[in-house]
Amino acid sequence: MAVDLSPVHCLHGQGRRPECILCGRCLPACPLFTATGREELSPRSKFFLARAVAEGRAELSAKAAEILTTQCLSCGRCENACPLGLCGPDLVAELRASHPGFAGFLWKLWIERAGLMWPLARSLTRLLPDGFPIEAVARAKDALAAMGSGDAPAPWLAPRTFDARHTGKKAVLFAGCVAEHANPAWKISAARLLAGLGLDVRPDPGFTCCGCTLGHAGAPEAQAAMQQHNIEAWRAAGRPLMVTFCATCRCGLRAYARKDLGLTMDEIGLWREQLVSLAELLGDTTFEVTAAAPPAVRYHRPCHGAGGNQDLGFLRRAMGDRLIFNENETPCCGFGGLTKLTAPDLSDAVARQALAIYAPKPGEQIVTGCSGCVTQLRTAAPRDVLVGHWLELIG
Ligand code: SF4
Ligand code: SF4
Repeated sequence: MAVDLSPVHCLHGQGRRPECILCGRCLPACPLFTATGREELSPRSKFFLARAVAEGRAELSAKAAEILTTQCLSCGRCENACPLGLCGPDLVAELRASHPGFAGFLWKLWIERAGLMWPLARSLTRLLPDGFPIEAVARAKDALAAMGSGDAPAPWLAPRTFDARHTGKKAVLFAGCVAEHANPAWKISAARLLAGLGLDVRPDPGFTCCGCTLGHAGAPEAQAAMQQHNIEAWRAAGRPLMVTFCATCRCGLRAYARKDLGLTMDEIGLWREQLVSLAELLGDTTFEVTAAAPPAVRYHRPCHGAGGNQDLGFLRRAMGDRLIFNENETPCCGFGGLTKLTAPDLSDAVARQALAIYAPKPGEQIVTGCSGCVTQLRTAAPRDVLVGHWLELIG
């Protein structure tokens, strides 16, 4: 298995930041800018303002800082486009950390207490009628419903033969928050596939959230605590393969491979090797496409999985020509973690932009490999277009 060395976007505060040269290459990459045309939302504006404040040419009021911190999806596309590697999420995370607001507090609570809060919120919002008149609550109801399996496509891929290359290897599943607390069907489906592959799957060693979105939300201490917890859990399990099926979890976990989290040099190498995607393990597994298959499936590539592409290769092998993917049109879904709370209109505008690019026909499906993207696109897609994690397509 190849070790994934593509850039990660969760390394807050690593080294000194170069000065933005205002070249503008990040503008067409930023989904907030392309969806709205508003230059003040672009990474260039954020870096320009940060520099002006640092040089004492401008003052950032608490209110202005709060607005600025709401306006980034943490997609990391600016970093990939910037010749200097400037990372918008890092800048915004620092701002969020130095100007903690109520939304940041709420997001931290939402992630840290997911096991308690998510089921509770789902139960409460289920009691509300459709079309509830308070918009924010109605949106939350839709998003919570989208996290579950209710609107998932019915399975239409049946495994025929399993790739036997990893038979007997020790593995643990890193399911991620959505599978743990909102959609256990993903976890069950992943466990069945691992059993089919013949892996020696060990019990969950007590993993918690990867911490990625907490870093973006400006809660670095909470993020570091989760990172340490997960490293200890992996060590206690005997440093086995750590299998993920969510691109954002994988991105968050890849960012652990560094010395300041207490991993030894040997462990850093091992961490990179042992962190694998389920799609990669499935390798040459073959599938039967059943009669329930839609005429076409659009693949949505998650921003946080852009470097890996393991899901895409796997899905192409499993679905053949039914899968539609255009390398030149890979929009962001607009989920953005904290942005869902702080700037939902912006988040929705980016989702609409993505769906306009895909332009799915009635009966087609959209498939992806990130829990945030599933939640976002499922909420925004027309009723006759089903959106799912690829695990949901496997019966
Ligand atoms: S992370 Fe995404 S939304 Fe935020 S500034 Fe960069 S490109 Fe724009
Ligand atoms: S952030 Fe990077 S790409 Fe954007 S204007 Fe500055 S130097 Fe250019």
